[in-house]
Amino acid sequence: MIRYTDVSVRYPNGTVGLDAVDLEIPDGQFVVVVGLSGAGKSTLIRTINGLVPVTSGQLEVAGRRVDGASKRQLRELRSRVGMIFQSFNLVSRTTVLKNVLVGRLHATPTVPSLFGVYRKDDVEVAFSALERVGIVEKAYTRASQLSGGQQQRVAIARVLAQQPEVILADEPVASLDPPTANLVMRDLQRINRELGITTVVNLHFLDLARTYAQRIIGMRAGKIVFDGTPSEADDAV
Ligand code: ADP
Ligand code: ADP
Repeated sequence: MIRYTDVSVRYPNGTVGLDAVDLEIPDGQFVVVVGLSGAGKSTLIRTINGLVPVTSGQLEVAGRRVDGASKRQLRELRSRVGMIFQSFNLVSRTTVLKNVLVGRLHATPTVPSLFGVYRKDDVEVAFSALERVGIVEKAYTRASQLSGGQQQRVAIARVLAQQPEVILADEPVASLDPPTANLVMRDLQRINRELGITTVVNLHFLDLARTYAQRIIGMRAGKIVFDGTPSEADDAV
């Protein structure tokens, strides 16, 4: 469960990112957050792993408070919450497999070194993550040689290697062409269904949200202005 109680975010320059948000996301739900640029989608998602600190109110993720968490508690939180970005954030000069093993660094601080020897079970977790997104044959290819869609699948595999309880995806398909965007959304949806990982995705486009979301949250000016199913969103627009 992710639970926001009267959560506001004010950035240091005074901009309001979130304005008194109340929201509950049950375990295993696939939620898509929509809204225009500046509506507060990124801020909402980034509070869940503590990347953006909450200014007031209470935020609970998987039974633990995020507001007021210590640095150690935030590290622990981030090990359980995986994040995917618009820009993939891969190490482009290194192999797909090593990029996915970065996910194990988040999961277990005992992984020896990015450039050293990996534990057998970490490598196994990384391969099974690559299998789940269908690019295991690219394990030894450099990330920079992959297409955008393939790179985003590597980023998804990296998050899966973390074995997270929550997956956050901040505009994960914004830099992909529509067919590829659909494939990546389908991967995220399938992973949510197969593994039951709570997933929160920010999207610019309502049509993708309608196709893939279980629940759509609409934002404007830091507030939640719509919360319902895709068919309720059809009626609202
Ligand atoms: P998006 O609209 O895709 O969420 P932006 O392009 O608005 O992202 O922001 C990119 C980065 O700049 C983010 O890290 C965001 O936190 C930061 N940012 C956005 N707006 C401002 C602002 N007014 N002042 C400072 N940083 C900002
Ligand atoms: P969205 O993801 O919907 O584009 P954001 O959450 O990025 O919206 O932004 C919400 C508001 O907060 C916007 O007014 C944006 O300019 C502002 N903002 C975002 N990041 C920062 C930042 N680091 N510093 C100051 N203002 C920011």
